[in-house]
Amino acid sequence: MPYLYILASIASGFALAAAARAEENGLPLAAPVPGGVAVVCVGRAPDPAPRVVFDGQRVRVARVGDAWHAVVGLPLALKPGAHELSVLEGEKSAHTVRFDVRPHDYEAQHVTLADRRQVEPGPADRLRIARDQESIVRAFSTFSDSALDGFDLGLPSAGRVSGSFGVRRFFNNEPRQPHSGVDIAAPPGTPIAAPAAGTVIETGDYFFNGLTVLLDHGQGLVTMYNHLSRIDVAKGARVARGETIGAVGSTGRVTGPHLHWSVSLNNARVDPALFLSRDVRDQVTSSLPAARGGAAAEPAPPRCD
Ligand code: ZN
Repeated sequence: MPYLYILASIASGFALAAAARAEENGLPLAAPVPGGVAVVCVGRAPDPAPRVVFDGQRVRVARVGDAWHAVVGLPLALKPGAHELSVLEGEKSAHTVRFDVRPHDYEAQHVTLADRRQVEPGPADRLRIARDQESIVRAFSTFSDSALDGFDLGLPSAGRVSGSFGVRRFFNNEPRQPHSGVDIAAPPGTPIAAPAAGTVIETGDYFFNGLTVLLDHGQGLVTMYNHLSRIDVAKGARVARGETIGAVGSTGRVTGPHLHWSVSLNNARVDPALFLSRDVRDQVTSSLPAARGGAAAEPAPPRCD
């Protein structure tokens, strides 16, 4: 057998092994930057899973091989640098585990809106917006103990990605919150599918977000769907992966029909591209290098030393 052929076989063997490992560990792609996900070793299995808290929120813990890893959502507003997780093991006193968050530059975008009311809402609108926000944050802060299959998410809608996660937005030159999800432009009425099994934790008709569904996938993983033309599920309903929950529309603050999709982990909005199944990963653009390699991108095996 020619020497080069053997080398190529060994290399492709390694690539296959790496791919299999990534499929098995079921974790999102790690991107320890604001708006990304940190995977942090927090203990050895088969000891019971430790309880982990970050910034006052319970964090999901996943077993990979013989180690427990905290899968930590990092808010877009988080300062890069050293951060700490609190680890509670049963009744034992808490200890902390340090991890580093690197800086990341998200692109800036300027938008001109004709409707002044949407730029500077009046007092009645501001009351409604505060109530909307309370209901949305309550849903995002939920930590239900239900077991999950994994972090793997499908694409909720067909269409063209018209807005990436993390973009720093200016409306009529006023700085606004950075873009906390992915926008998928599609004709009104395009069905929206649950990207994983879950429970409908909230539905609403919100000032900015329009007709909205929030799904709880368990242990702090919550997804949100905005600007729908209709909602097909009721609060409290269980949904299967792929089940239709509503349809694309243009309710709330929009310039055209699209789905705004947010993914939240421990009440931090993070880049949905990090969670996509390999077969659809290259359909969503992301500014995070970890998610930019398309289907070929493989997470590094989590370290525990
Ligand atoms: Zn959006």
